[in-house]
This record gives sequence, structure tokens and C-alpha cells, in this order.
Amino acid sequence: MVKRLSPETRVIHEGEMVNPEIGNIHTPLFGDSVFLYPNDKSKIIDKPRELPFIYSRLGNPTVQSLEEKYASIENAESALAFSSGMSAISTTILTVLKPGHRLLAVSGLYGQTLDLLQNDIANLGIKVDFTDIDSINSINFDTKKYKAIFVESIINPTLEVADLIKLSKEAPDAIKIVDASMASPVNQNPIDLGFDLVIHSATKYISGMDDVVGGLVAGPRNLIREIAAKRKAFGTIMDPYTAHVIGKNIKTMYLRVNRQNESAYFIATELKKMGLKVNYPGLKNKYYEIAKNNLKGFSGVISFDLGVDYERSQKFMDSLKIIKKAPTFGGVESLITLPWETSHTYIPPEQRRRIGITESLLRVSIGIEDKQDILNDLKNSLKKIK
Ligand code: PLP
Repeated sequence: MVKRLSPETRVIHEGEMVNPEIGNIHTPLFGDSVFLYPNDKSKIIDKPRELPFIYSRLGNPTVQSLEEKYASIENAESALAFSSGMSAISTTILTVLKPGHRLLAVSGLYGQTLDLLQNDIANLGIKVDFTDIDSINSINFDTKKYKAIFVESIINPTLEVADLIKLSKEAPDAIKIVDASMASPVNQNPIDLGFDLVIHSATKYISGMDDVVGGLVAGPRNLIREIAAKRKAFGTIMDPYTAHVIGKNIKTMYLRVNRQNESAYFIATELKKMGLKVNYPGLKNKYYEIAKNNLKGFSGVISFDLGVDYERSQKFMDSLKIIKKAPTFGGVESLITLPWETSHTYIPPEQRRRIGITESLLRVSIGIEDKQDILNDLKNSLKKIK
């Protein structure tokens, strides 16, 4: 048996469209909207449709180059790139579910996804049931009832972990979809764990530079072909420029994310030693065993509760010198946000507190700066609010 190259090598070389006559080593940016038609001579084809490239809303060589690279590192048969994480999610959901179908979703979803499922999808005659991650992990639902199950690998910002391995075993008939943006493909390959479809906001760890917005979906060829047909109808494909940028940025993903894993673990451990209530999948909390089994690394996002009021939380954030205030994660810069006023403002205050999102629960996305410098920045700000 031929040993497959490791994903760190595949992410560099897979999917590249090289032309030996030119000698390029990276797929060029094919910014074209249209290609010759009919193009009977084309040897390079748009894979999901198995036809030569025609028009860039259907498929584009630069976009396909990224799709092949991403499919390879996810150990998936096929993949598709989208204009955003949200367009990847909405196009996938609208392919898999039809009126009359039932969807089970975790209640702690990213706010925009929650809104999409609760309102837009439910209004189309698709029944959506929400339940918390503990009920999902303990399979406290009727597995036969659902056409599809939608979870996130790591729930934001409380950082509970979904048990994909258990769900795959115990709900074999449902189409299992995971948004693995918080984990990144470095820390989790859900198809290897038995899931059907994995979705990423490529805006986060995959691009990693806070420079472009994009989405990716990977899975079996037959399902991906169906999703590609909807992507064509909805016009949700990634643009070639973004694919070109992500195609380069993804090559450093393993370096970046492995460092972010290590720094986040160090910082989470140190903050815990100082007596703060820290959420991080790598700490020995309620989700540690699930995290150990389902994740290869614990990711670069931590959250902690300062146990103070809103004004002092603001003072803490404003006193930081390195970590910037911005509501995203996965980039090379360390960023901080107060979910109370960003991702979770739409939830009534009492409900927010009940699920652990208080006026002083802060989420930090650890970047690739020196880990001691990041920790010192946090420690210095802590002194300012004492
Ligand atoms: N999924 C998660 C977990 C997210 O945090 C986000 C955005 O913050 C999205 C999906 C949406 O991705 P995008 O902003 O690329 O549409």
C-alpha cells in the first residue's frame, strides 16, 4: 500500500494547476467570468459538473484549485467554495432539507446560523428543533425523527465540544453536518469521524489573515454534486480573487494553528492558575474527554469570566495594548470580544446569563504573537480593573 503524504505536505501541493510550459508553481488567478463554449479541447474540467469550464458562477479553475486542496486535507471525496461561511451553510441546508423534513440543531449555534434556521429555514416548511449540546452528546432525542442534524464542533463562546464520534455511531440514518470553523481542519476532520458534511467559515482559521470572507463545504461526491447545483442557482460561489488569496493563505494553516493551539493552551492554563473561570477544551473540565477524542488540538480560542460589571469589562478591553477589540477569530492577530454586546445581543439578558454569557465573559482569539507577550497584555489589563 502506498503511504499517503501527510496533510501538511498535501496542503502545499494538492490542487495546484501547474502549466509546465509556463513553469508556474501556484494556480494562477483566473479572474475570467467566461470561457470558450463549446470548449471541446479542454482537458481541465469543472469536476462537480464533469464539463469544461463555461462561466464562473458555475465553476472556475482558481476556485476549483482551492476546492481540491481543501477536499484533500479533509479526506473528503469532493468540496465546494462559497462567497462566505453563511452562504456555505444556507446553500447546504437548502440542498439537504425539503419542506416536511425535520432538522435537529444545537441551540448554541453561531447567532447568524441560529437566525437562519429559526426564521428563514423554518418559514419554508422545514421543522427545526433546537436542543442543547449535552442532550445532543447524550443522544437524548429520537434519532429516527430527523433527516439531518446540524452541530458546531466547538460552541462559541462557551467552548463546549460536540461528540461527533458518538453522533456518527448512534444516528447513522441522519445526514450529519458540522460547522467546524472553531476547530479548523488542523484540529478536526469530521469526515474521518463519520460525519457526512463539514462546513467552514474560511474567513477564520483557513484564511487566517482577516483579509477575505469565504466558506467551504466538503463531503461525498453525490451530495456535493447536489449542493453545486444549488450553488449555481443561488449564485453563492466564491469569487476567483478570494480563492486565489485563500489558496495561498491555507498553505501556512498548519504552522499558524499549531502555534495558536500551543499558545492558547499556555494562556488558558495560566489564567486558570490565577483563579479566573476559564473555558477551553484543553482544560480538564466537563468536555475534556469528548475534546480529547474528537479533536487533534484544542484550538486557539479561549473565554473567561472576569466576574465584573459591563463598564469594568470595557475598561479591561480598552487597557489592552496588543490584543485588539474585534468580533471574529482564527486570524494571526490576537482579538478580543465581549459576546454579551456582539454575537449574543439578540438573546434576552436573562437567557444570556443562564447559558453563561455574562457582561464580563470575554472571548479571546489567540494570534501568532509571542504567547508570553499576549499573557502579559491580559495580566496588565487585569491589574487596571482591580
Ligand atoms: N460559523 C461560525 C462558527 C462563525 O463564527 C461564523 C462567523 O463568525 C460563521 C459561521 C459565518 O461565517 P462568515 O462570516 O464567513 O459568513
